[in-house]
Amino acid sequence: MHKDDCIFCKIALGKVPAHKIYEDDDVIAFLDISQTTKGHTLVIPKEHFDNYLATPQEVMHKVMDVAQHIGQAQIYVLGAKGVNILTNVNKEAGQSVMHFHVHVIPRYISKEGFRIEMKENPNIKDLSLPALAEQIKKGL
Ligand code: 5GP
Ligand code: ZN
Repeated sequence: MHKDDCIFCKIALGKVPAHKIYEDDDVIAFLDISQTTKGHTLVIPKEHFDNYLATPQEVMHKVMDVAQHIGQAQIYVLGAKGVNILTNVNKEAGQSVMHFHVHVIPRYISKEGFRIEMKENPNIKDLSLPALAEQIKKGL
């Protein structure tokens, strides 16, 4: 299924141009327009799913397989020293295009482009980690 107002559906259908790197029946990969670092690539399912969590497992696996190959190519061909592979789910997490996509971002120099910083929660002492672990476990 595709959504008429979705920019990534349009790219998947060839209605909007993109610099394609890979394409098969289910998955397409193309350069991100922002090029946060040189070679920044997006991998998407051709079918529309809103985000990673809403994507059927079989499709998600295909997307992640392609992301792995692209990360390897960024190291071997572009000479990247590292790669960030990430996906945002919903706007609170920074998702701006509501069609599942995986960012594959080659890294050449530490701290160039962007940085993900895992800060320690200042209220950590108020959290019960055993209770929290149990709570999440119950949702599996
Ligand atoms: P998000 O913020 O949803 O995780 O990432 C969306 C990404 O899509 C951004 O990095 C943005 O640069 C990229 N993007 C948005 N519109 C287009 C477009 O029309 N073409 C391409 N190639 N990338 C796009
Ligand atoms: Zn879409």
